[in-house]
Amino acid sequence: MKRVGLLGGTFDPIHFGHLRPAEEVYEKLKLDKIIFIPAGTPPHKKSRTSPFALRFEMARLAIEGVPHFEVSDLEGKRKGPSYSVITLKELLAASQEDYFFILGLDAFLEFDTWFSFREIPRLVHLVVINRGEGGEKEFRKKVKEIFPEAQEKEKVFALPNGKTIRYVPVTRLDISSTMIREAVSKGKSIRFLLPEAVRRFILAHGLYDAGAREDFCKNPE
Ligand code: ATP
Ligand code: MG
Repeated sequence: MKRVGLLGGTFDPIHFGHLRPAEEVYEKLKLDKIIFIPAGTPPHKKSRTSPFALRFEMARLAIEGVPHFEVSDLEGKRKGPSYSVITLKELLAASQEDYFFILGLDAFLEFDTWFSFREIPRLVHLVVINRGEGGEKEFRKKVKEIFPEAQEKEKVFALPNGKTIRYVPVTRLDISSTMIREAVSKGKSIRFLLPEAVRRFILAHGLYDAGAREDFCKNPE
């Protein structure tokens, strides 16, 4: 069984705050590879999320030349909402690997609002990475609150089924897709916040620029 990291996100766009922590988790947990999973486009009409095909392409450009990184189109193919638990079951049905589901502390703190969240660590290990300063205290408090059955041993929480929940501190990079979209829309530089190939793709396609956004909404994907 391979040890495979999974990092889901909207990735609108993917940036170094996703890529560098993924690289560090890959190294620290001695994983075989990491799969980036862009979320399907939310079905609501008012959604301002870029079409899946564009977010997928940016992720593909970002990882080009990195042999241990992959991008999955699983959530783009599926109709309806992209629930992580469904994606994980699909991945497991296709290949029974030892999966490590990576998520930022911001996402983990609202994990109990996710669809069927209790089922997720029945399928995969959870790896929580910091977003901003510290966070380990908040992480431990949240684990105890939502998974009281987890036993803590040497900083790793183990569930009765053997799956683990752990906190992995990574280099703090205060970058968000929101700040990148805002900078682009104001005509400000986004250089050195994300891979150069992605920056060029955004500018070449007029992404996150108010006018271009309207065109994509009229003619998505
Ligand atoms: P947005 O601003 O649109 O919400 P984002 O930068 O938060 O975008 P997402 O696609 O929402 O990016 O994040 C995907 C996953 O990556 C989440 O689990 C999130 O917590 C994590 N993540 C995003 N940015 C960082 C960062 N700078 N450092 C650590 N984790 C991050
Ligand atoms: Mg986010």
